[in-house]
Amino acid sequence: MKGGKLLIFSAPSGSGKTTIVRHLLSKPELNLAFSVSATSRPRRVKEKNGEHYYFMSVSEFKKHIRDDDFLEWEEVYRDNFYGTLKSEVERLWAEGKNVIFDIDVVGGLRIKKKYPERTLAVFVKPPSVDELKIRLKKRSTESEDKINMRIAKASVELATAPQFDKIIKNYDLDVALKEAEELVAGFIADSKCE
Ligand code: 5GP
Repeated sequence: MKGGKLLIFSAPSGSGKTTIVRHLLSKPELNLAFSVSATSRPRRVKEKNGEHYYFMSVSEFKKHIRDDDFLEWEEVYRDNFYGTLKSEVERLWAEGKNVIFDIDVVGGLRIKKKYPERTLAVFVKPPSVDELKIRLKKRSTESEDKINMRIAKASVELATAPQFDKIIKNYDLDVALKEAEELVAGFIADSKCE
């Protein structure tokens, strides 16, 4: 596949990576487009198909796996599959965009391995697991059970941070946003990664 740069933002659920990714997307000079993932998890009330995710059944998702349609995919939580469709990245590259991903740590590292030169893999680190719990409860998009499942996964995910190119500590959101912006602008400007 030919095309622009790949910017991966991975972190435990509730770390604020989605806020950071949205902020970066609002900067036209970065020429970014969001890679919409496919998922088999249920749609949340405010989510739109084709904008937040391509929502599909588990069997549809499995058919895409069999057809080798994914750049990477992961069963992030039980029966909740998530994956990046090759067609999505190809579409955005054809538009001349740099592609930004909000994906889990395993998927993020997998893409980095496939495209080591053109990928910047960033890990967004929350202040603590306790703070994550507070943020997830405040967000209240998930049941208590699901929040606990996400917290349990967070410790495992935090251990992968050193494998990323950069770690952004999201202790103060304004500082983290600025840091992310500078990092991405620098990477995009660096022609050595073409
Ligand atoms: P959520 O259910 O909160 O939208 O996402 C749960 C987790 O799945 C998050 O860590 C999110 O970044 C990750 N995720 C979203 N899309 C993808 C994808 O395409 N591939 C992988 N591996 N993880 C994804």
